[in-house]
Amino acid sequence: MYTSFCLAITSEKVIRSIIQSRPLPGFRSRPHTLLSSLSTHHQQSHSRRLSSHTVSVSQLRADHDFTHAVIGGGVVGLAIAQELARRSSRPGSTLLLEQHTAVGTETSSRNSEVIHAGIYYGATSLKTELCISGKQLLYSLCEKEGIPHRRTGKWIVAQTDAQREALQRVYDFCTQEIHVPMRWVGAEEAARREPAVRAEKGVLESPTTGIIDSHSLMMCLLGKFEDAGGTLALGSRVEAITPLGGDGSQGWKLTVRDTTGSGELSTITADTLINAAGLGAVAVHNMIVPPDRRRKMFYAKGNYFSYGGSSPKVSTLIYPAPEPGHAGLGTHLTLDIGGRIKFGPDVEWVDSPEDLSVNESRLSETIREVKKYLPALDETLLRPDYAGIRPKLGRQGAVVSGKGFIDFVIQREEGYHGWINLLGIESPGLTSSLAIAEKVRKLLYQ
Ligand SMILES: Cc1cc2nc3c(=O)[nH]c(=O)nc-3n(C[C@H](O)[C@H](O)[C@H](O)COP(=O)(O)OP(=O)(O)OC[C@H]3O[C@@H](n4cnc5c(N)ncnc54)[C@H](O)[C@@H]3O)c2cc1C
Repeated sequence: MYTSFCLAITSEKVIRSIIQSRPLPGFRSRPHTLLSSLSTHHQQSHSRRLSSHTVSVSQLRADHDFTHAVIGGGVVGLAIAQELARRSSRPGSTLLLEQHTAVGTETSSRNSEVIHAGIYYGATSLKTELCISGKQLLYSLCEKEGIPHRRTGKWIVAQTDAQREALQRVYDFCTQEIHVPMRWVGAEEAARREPAVRAEKGVLESPTTGIIDSHSLMMCLLGKFEDAGGTLALGSRVEAITPLGGDGSQGWKLTVRDTTGSGELSTITADTLINAAGLGAVAVHNMIVPPDRRRKMFYAKGNYFSYGGSSPKVSTLIYPAPEPGHAGLGTHLTLDIGGRIKFGPDVEWVDSPEDLSVNESRLSETIREVKKYLPALDETLLRPDYAGIRPKLGRQGAVVSGKGFIDFVIQREEGYHGWINLLGIESPGLTSSLAIAEKVRKLLYQ
């Protein structure tokens, strides 16, 4: 009951935010886009706001339009924006820019919605650190705010001796190095709990893995952002960025296009810049840095197929053993909050972040992979469902044992002031979102 109450309130807030756009002094507001109505008279800042590593909000000068400009209204940008807005003493000082007319329409709504345990990414990676703390923060938030979620647990299944050894390595690593709970499931228990699942050489269970309704999570974060007085600019695509003072020491100027029709360009200024643009993050990065620091993004599409049958029945997430060098975690069985089964994502390298149609030619390979652990699958009941694209900084390595594993990039960008840059926020970005937000706040203010 609390959930629907919370969501009803939040949707109302979204609408109110789009319509009212929380105008700041000197700004007009107009429906559906904030920035097309902003005419800014940028005053050059005279202070070096973030040149020291320790800055308090009160030290930030209010001579720009905003204190914080966060680019990207996915789950990560939302988490960061609400974190910064809640800690800001100046109402309206955090601006969240999103190119679409709604938040969370890209990767954040095209994933497996799994709350990961953090078991695949090595002992020292940011992915491990932020996934483990993000998981705890996420479960707490879900419980406090009534966000639909379920602690389903997850099984990783081995069919061969080599896969069993891979599971043993995962078990040793989790229990000895990162202290994430894992347990072996005996054959009798496995047959009793999930009779349809085949696991010839063993089952390793991650009891802290779960699932979440990512849309409810994003609505909740948006509600918190709004409650803290944040300014949401929908239909506002950042197209150019100028570091003022040459390196951002005097703030940041953003040129923003109204994507809702007029195509009008506006500029705004902010003390700090947070690049959380997901699939667009490398393009944003390249707007700022000199040519020799430009990067390239690679797009790894994951296709999902939904299952229309009620049999075989499975109530745990089922994953194959991890394969070193594979760009994903293997085609797994996930459940949504309603208990509906879906299979995916596979890995298909594509050239465009807009290539989001499900590649049906992948179905036969998906069936082959899934039948290894779910032999009774009725393949005639599989339907193309949706696809999501991983924002990759290289062509390989979803798990640390593989070649070319690439960690999240979340950093103050060298040579610039007040710019936190987030690149390659692929899985487990949803799980890590709240921890990423805390990290960004600390990078700015500690
Ligand atoms: C197939 C797949 C499965 C996954 N499964 C899981 C999982 O089970 N668990 C998990 O923890 N993680 C998972 N992930 C990862 C997770 O979905 C992402 O890490 C997370 O959603 C990233 O959120 P984001 O806010 O960084 O990016 P996005 O959701 O992509 O948001 C970025 C936003 O920036 C906006 N934007 C881009 N450029 C501009 C611009 N120039 N101006 C204004 N706005 C701009 C976009 O419109 C977009 O809304 C999965 C990812 C994929 C692809």
